[in-house]
Amino acid sequence: MLKAIFPTLGRFRLFVQVAMLLLTVYGSNVVGFYMAEKVSNALPALSCAYDQQNGAYCVLIPTQHQLHHRIGEALVKAQEITVQMFLPLLFTLLTFFTFFFVLSKAFCGWVCPLGTIQELINKLGRKLNMPLRRFENGSVSKVRPVKWLMLLVLVLALPLLTGLGVTPHSLGNPFCDVCPSRIVTTLLTGSTEQMALRTGDGIAFTLGAIANTMAGFILVAAFAVRQPFCRICPLLSFNAVFQRLSPMRLVKKQHDKCDKCGICAKACPMDIHEIAREHGSKAYHEDCTLCGRCAEFCPDDDVIQMKWGPIPLFKSSREYYKQRMKGEMPDGTLKIVTAPRKLAAGAEDNA
Ligand code: SF4
Ligand code: SF4
Ligand code: SF4
Repeated sequence: MLKAIFPTLGRFRLFVQVAMLLLTVYGSNVVGFYMAEKVSNALPALSCAYDQQNGAYCVLIPTQHQLHHRIGEALVKAQEITVQMFLPLLFTLLTFFTFFFVLSKAFCGWVCPLGTIQELINKLGRKLNMPLRRFENGSVSKVRPVKWLMLLVLVLALPLLTGLGVTPHSLGNPFCDVCPSRIVTTLLTGSTEQMALRTGDGIAFTLGAIANTMAGFILVAAFAVRQPFCRICPLLSFNAVFQRLSPMRLVKKQHDKCDKCGICAKACPMDIHEIAREHGSKAYHEDCTLCGRCAEFCPDDDVIQMKWGPIPLFKSSREYYKQRMKGEMPDGTLKIVTAPRKLAAGAEDNA
């Protein structure tokens, strides 16, 4: 029955993504504002519009806020450093870990509204026959450190320095001030409020202008590049720090059948070329969003698996691969009709 409705994992994931997009953008209307504030503060995916009343965002806002208002100020007033001051941050991180333990980085591949929006725009680009730009091995490794820089500078260092009084107050939540999800997801609710620039404060004005520009750039770039913002998103690096702590993961067996055809890497929206070359825990890369596309497009049985602890959730299989290649391709047009192994080279360009 389920298989008839969702013939592919990709179709099922798209269903979950759209459901999550609706939930994370309009969810507070269902669960109520009190619950929305509690939930949205701990989400390991960007969901700015979820709590429409209080404008709480994701785990990054309380992290910045606590570093700014609690930890930074606590270090200045050393006598006030007590366990109580760390409790709010501890509580936020504990709630985050509870979410994260269950789903890990699948929040990125299956839940994050900004991730879904970028993916839907890219699908539209394929339908419109726009050229798909990929990051090759060299360029992708140059971009990867940026997400760590975003985390270290915008989420951790500047809020802490602001709390210590080193940097101005308007640098207290710098990532949220430049976050494109804040603009894009609230626009989906019909509100343009988040696009407004704060005049009278040069730093706040500049950060707001960067946010608007970045949101516009990402919406356009997503037509040609898969997941453009995800590559520099500090939540990707934040989640990567803890990814090994969750039982949810991507596993690739060292397998005679794996002939490094590279289709998995071509199918990967994050251009993780290592997925074709590495095996074991190395194949679960820091940029992986657990979307499962590499497992969907690998033509060999059991080579790539999504697992929760010992429980396999999805395994690559030749039969599924054949079905997937006959179905809707990422570019929305190509139909593959010959044998899968022979097709590999031709299919690569479209996977
Ligand atoms: S990496 Fe992408 S999917 Fe993950 S939280 Fe950031 S924007 Fe969302
Ligand atoms: S698609 Fe499968 S067989 Fe091909 S390189 Fe990737 S893991 Fe190996
Ligand atoms: S490695 Fe696989 S699961 Fe991870 S992002 Fe790439 S395609 Fe998705």
